[in-house]
Amino acid sequence: MQIKYNSLSAVADLAIENNMSISELVIKEQAESMGLSEAEIKAKMLERYNIMKRAKEEGLKEGLVSVSGLTGGDALKLYKYREKGVNICGGIFTKGLSYALAVNEYNAAMGKIVATPTAGSCGILPAAMITMQEEHGFSDEEIVEAMFTASAVGMVVATIANVSGAEGGCQAECGSASAMSAAAICELFKAGPKACINAVAITFKNVLGLVCDPVAGLVEVPCVKRNASGVATAFMAAQLAMSGIESKIPVDETILTMKRVGDTMSTSLKETAEGGLAVTPCGCAISKRILG
Ligand code: SF4
Repeated sequence: MQIKYNSLSAVADLAIENNMSISELVIKEQAESMGLSEAEIKAKMLERYNIMKRAKEEGLKEGLVSVSGLTGGDALKLYKYREKGVNICGGIFTKGLSYALAVNEYNAAMGKIVATPTAGSCGILPAAMITMQEEHGFSDEEIVEAMFTASAVGMVVATIANVSGAEGGCQAECGSASAMSAAAICELFKAGPKACINAVAITFKNVLGLVCDPVAGLVEVPCVKRNASGVATAFMAAQLAMSGIESKIPVDETILTMKRVGDTMSTSLKETAEGGLAVTPCGCAISKRILG
């Protein structure tokens, strides 16, 4: 079996034709193309998931601070606040936000993370998966399988668009991570391939135009909080798609739109730290303090 990963609709259609979930299809195809057994590639994915879980734990530890001193500690602050029971959107939602902050703060402190799809957006998929596991009791195996659906989304986006802030703005980076997470959540709840791709489409429609504007060129401000926003978007998109809501714009067209918007975006808004929040008076002052 061969999949070109140049159309998410085609991947979903192939899964439906074969009476499979997207993850089953991708696991089979990836095992064949890598010359490994399905058990072996699942074991590799489990290794990645364990790194994600450790990053979340480390990111919630007291005293975590990044090398620049710009970030650290917000994940723990939110986690503790959640434990007080003040959760305007429910405990699951707040937990997801705090885990996204935790993994990204750990990244900023030079901790080991899994780039999903990039280091800047590394908090979103782990936050979505770990929160779903803790709150809904999914096994490691179920999470690992859902991560192959996330992978399929990432591979298609990387093939027909891009996943880096430098190329497409934060819509490409955190947006892709949100889309991957939304599809994986739909997969976990066995919502079917169509719901998975609708969740991706809904995600991209809601992140179009999001710029990449890291203060001092460091993947910290606004990146850490963009990860919290990213998991929130993933929860929203998955919930909409799982209820049967469909995107009026087909998924591949939303991905190509994201690319087109990225292509027309000024380079000052694509990780150059020459626009957006990076050039606010405060952003400039921070940059001067850190970089001299
Ligand atoms: S603002 Fe730029 S560097 Fe930061 S997470 Fe978004 S794409 Fe990555």
